[in-house]
Order: sequence, then structure tokens, then C-alpha cells
Amino acid sequence: MTKRFLLAAVAALALPLPAFAQTAPDPAALRDAALKDDIAWDITEGLTTEIGQRLAATEAEARARAWSVAKLEAMGFRNVRIETFKMPVWVRGEETAEVLGPHAQKLTITALGRSGSTGPKGVEAEIAYFPTMADLQAAPAGSLTGKIAFISHSMVATQDGSHYGVFGAARRSGPQIAASKGAVAVLIRSIGTDYHRNPHTGGTNWAEGTKPIAAAALSLPDAEQLQRLLKRGPVRMRLLITPQFKGEGESGNVIAEVPGSDPDAGIVLIGGHLDSWDIGTGAIDDATGVAIAAAAAKRVMDAGQPRRTIRVVWFGAEEPGGFGGEAYAKAHANERHVLATESDFGADRIWKFDVNLPEGAKGIGDRLATVLGPLGISRGNAVAGGGTDVGPILRTGVPSISLHQSGLRYFDYHHTPDDTLDKVDPEQLRQNVAAWTAMTAIVANAPEDIGTVRPGRGE
Ligand SMILES: [Zn+2]
Repeated sequence: MTKRFLLAAVAALALPLPAFAQTAPDPAALRDAALKDDIAWDITEGLTTEIGQRLAATEAEARARAWSVAKLEAMGFRNVRIETFKMPVWVRGEETAEVLGPHAQKLTITALGRSGSTGPKGVEAEIAYFPTMADLQAAPAGSLTGKIAFISHSMVATQDGSHYGVFGAARRSGPQIAASKGAVAVLIRSIGTDYHRNPHTGGTNWAEGTKPIAAAALSLPDAEQLQRLLKRGPVRMRLLITPQFKGEGESGNVIAEVPGSDPDAGIVLIGGHLDSWDIGTGAIDDATGVAIAAAAAKRVMDAGQPRRTIRVVWFGAEEPGGFGGEAYAKAHANERHVLATESDFGADRIWKFDVNLPEGAKGIGDRLATVLGPLGISRGNAVAGGGTDVGPILRTGVPSISLHQSGLRYFDYHHTPDDTLDKVDPEQLRQNVAAWTAMTAIVANAPEDIGTVRPGRGE
């Protein structure tokens, strides 16, 4: 036993638990009941079937918000509302790619979010190939003038999804770097791990003052086809990529609450994002996330009024750059949040949890380890960092708990036409709901005061 644990044990003995803690529902019983959950499936099925794709700040996302309000009210939540915000709108156009010359053939692409346009006539140019981001960075200024840059990488599937952070740079900043060196357009190997002929979309970023150029992802089979062609000699391609920036539009966060009995004890925020990319139906990204959070809150609500208010937030416009999370943090900066966490990594089994809890509330992590253990979830030693949506509120010192889903399948479907309901495994989804229900119950009813923390690494 470490000195820290010994002190915690002595402190626990010295302070009898307040009366409400003794009447709080048993998290283990809630966990076991949630292993039969159908609420999360019902939400995921409904949202992906009745709405489908929900691109941020479009009519489809607005319909998804109306659907969500009706759903959350029907579930019995209180204070169900939409908080709107403004953001730039980007919509997809045509997207075709063909190799010219003796090996003429079409390749499969999809535009990256915020891609510029080639114009209706398209562009024709020679490929400049960069096997890695480092190769692209090393290219001399102006050396890509008039060329189409093609950036590859070597992402592999990992349980913790960590390769997304490393190789995702090819998508997030590769186009900007290529544009700065004169490229007329950019192709990247999809940030994904499947060998289906499905390119993966996702947002790319432009520096202030850069005019966006056309930027698209090749599916993995097409990227490797292009690499083989490049081995045979120079390759010329024609690209037609015509997305549009449509000026400012409206998105919004959908909020629902379970009011707590002790308004001074702070708010427990759990959520996911309501918007999705436009080429699939946003099942694993992130219908399951909003479904898991709402199902957990509903289960805790039905077990009796919690001590703390549970606030379920279905964030808008996460995919194009976390606009919903930023808007929420700004609008609610003066409220006391004691936890903020989101589910945005699919719905495969949760295998690990990490916490970022203040000194006086470390006992929550210990109780969590006990109740999550039987679900096959072990305690990690990283500092919980949250994600895009809760990142801005966590940066103000709000504690967090991260429940990590397995990432082994996630990047096979992420941001592809294949992100559809059939990829959700109902049994694994139930394991997620069980873990989230137990975690939400433990934090919402914790007798400890939960103070602030040094922010973890937001990702
Ligand atoms: Zn997501």
C-alpha cells in the first residue's frame, strides 16, 4: 500500500458518508441491468435510419436536432433544448480522379472536409509523390508548382487508436503544406486501416491567408495502385473536385438534463456528437456515442434522483472542427462542471479507463475500478484528456474520466460510406452502456466534493 492510498483510507474512515450516499443506487446493480440495454440501440437505429447523414450546418443536421429534442423529451429528460451557434458551411460536390496516358484508369477518391475546388473543368497535372509527411516537409519551396502532391503514410490498426494521431497529420496539415509549396491539388492515402475501395474523408486545415486547393483521399487499394504506377514512371492525373464554401450557417448543441438534488454539487456532463460526415450514416461516428451517453443518463435517472445534475450534450458540428464544443464552453463558462466526458470512438468493447480527478476525489477512481473490472475494463495510468467536444471545457480545469473503446476495427469504417448501423455490435454496445451507466451513477452520487484539476492532454 502506498502512502497516498493509506492516507485516503484513513480519511475515508474518519469521514462517515452523508446519508444520501447510503440511499444512492448500487452502481454494480445498474451495471448488470444495463447489460440488457436496448435504449442505446434504439437511438442509434433511429438516428441513422430516420435522419441518415448529418453534415454540420446543413438541413440534415437541423432535422437531426429536431429529432433529438423529440427523442430526449420522450425519454423523460428535463430542460431539453437546442443552443444554436454560427459557423462556416462546406458541402461536397463532384469528385472524380483518373490516371492519364498509357495506364489510363479511374481511381476512387473523396474530398476532404474544407477542400478547395478544382473548378468545373478540373485540373490535369503530374503527380509529385511523398511517401511520408517528413518527405513533404523537406520538399523545397516552390518545388510543387503546377503539380498534384500525393502523400502516403503507414497507419496500422491499434487497440488504443494511437496511430490516428501520428498519421492523421497527412490529412490535417498535408494539404496546407503542399499548397504552401505551390501544389495545385493534393491526394492523400486515406487515414484508415481497411482494404475496401472506400476512401476516408475528414477535415483538413488551412492556415490564415491560404487559398484552399482541392484535397482528396484515395482509398487504400487506390493509393497502392497509384504507388505501383509511380514505380513504372511519371504519372499524370486529371482531378475534378468541386465542393463549395457556402458562407455562414447555423448549427447547434442539443442539451437534456436529469436535475440533481444538490445544485451546489456541480454538473456531470456526458455526451457525444450529433453531426456526421456526409458519405455514411454516422453510426459509429457518432450515433453510438450520443446513444451511449443518453442511455446511461436515462438508466441513472430511472433509479432515483441523483445528487448532481447530469447534463447530456449532443454536440453539433464536431467533424468540421469542434464548433459545438467551443460554443458550449463559451456559453456555460460560468457554471460549475465537476466532470466532462464524451464517447466518440465507436462502440466496440471498452477495455481501459483513465481518470483526471482532484486529490479529494481520488476515491471515485477506486470505486470505478471495482465496478468496471467485471466488464473486462482495467484502470490505465494515463491522465484522462477527453476529446474534441469536451476539450474546451476541460481546459478550464474540469475533471474527466475516459472510457476507452477498442480501436481495432474503428479505422476500417471511420469517415467512410461504410459507417453504417450494421457495423455496430449490439452486445459490445451494451457493454459500453453498462460501463457508462456505472460511471455516471458513481460520479453523480459521489459524496466527495469534486474540485478542479490541472488539465490533461486534450486530444
Ligand atoms: Zn466523431
